[in-house]
Amino acid sequence: MKKRFEKTFLSRMLTKRNLSISLIVALILTSCSKNNEEMMTEAQTDAFNSANIKQGKLGGQVITYERKNGMNFFQGDIVLSDKQLAEDNSANKGGATLSRWPNGKIYYTVASNMGSINANKITSAVNEYNTKTNTQWIPRTNQSNYVEFIFGSSSGYDGWAHIGYQGGKQNISLDQNISTASVIHEMGHTVGLYHEHCRKDRDQYVSIQWDNIQSGQAYNFNIYNSGTDIGPFNINSVMMYWPTSYSKNGLPTIKKADNTNFTYNRTGFTTGDINTINAMYP
Ligand SMILES: [Zn+2]
Repeated sequence: MKKRFEKTFLSRMLTKRNLSISLIVALILTSCSKNNEEMMTEAQTDAFNSANIKQGKLGGQVITYERKNGMNFFQGDIVLSDKQLAEDNSANKGGATLSRWPNGKIYYTVASNMGSINANKITSAVNEYNTKTNTQWIPRTNQSNYVEFIFGSSSGYDGWAHIGYQGGKQNISLDQNISTASVIHEMGHTVGLYHEHCRKDRDQYVSIQWDNIQSGQAYNFNIYNSGTDIGPFNINSVMMYWPTSYSKNGLPTIKKADNTNFTYNRTGFTTGDINTINAMYP
């Protein structure tokens, strides 16, 4: 996605927003830094419906999530199972969920309608995990516990994933225009990572710009106290929101704690990401 097109896209979305709220697909614009080829978002493009906003308990903490298409979306693109929300114990706590894949082995399949472009991104992302982390993503043969990459939409830029090891079949959804690094991000949720900006210590490092957040979306910026924070806060993490996530006006919703802007990373793993995953899967 070239910057020139991005501006056009922004203008178009702003116009649509004025015309009809139901036409809003996204106000999430990236300031593509290193990777200008693709627009990078993760499941933040659906129209907001306050009736779908629910409260539940995760790891003993009351959290707010969105019920959509029969699924529970937490922090935008993380899908919690009904079981996870019902457990009310520490079994799924995490930054870092405790529901880890046995021996770090993650068996996967790719839906037959995925298409070669996304299949290639999956191959690249799997290669990143298999060469840089202690998790191993292995094509499924007959395993009963596995993840399937499913196709989201032909026009979208998003993805979502179930958090941590679920048991049985679980999914990672990828739209046609998602970036490889966002595939890596979604796979991060599969191994058990939540978002970096929800860490308990985040206010030392970032400043949430509450006034710039779209109506009804502020809960996506709540700290997740029940998480286990591993390693130092990493603003360049592939699990960080980007600076204008859920912005209603194009202005940053997250800045550095000193009120300066940061450049987000969707180019791939940082050393901190690798260290975190390897701490979870020693
Ligand atoms: Zn995410």
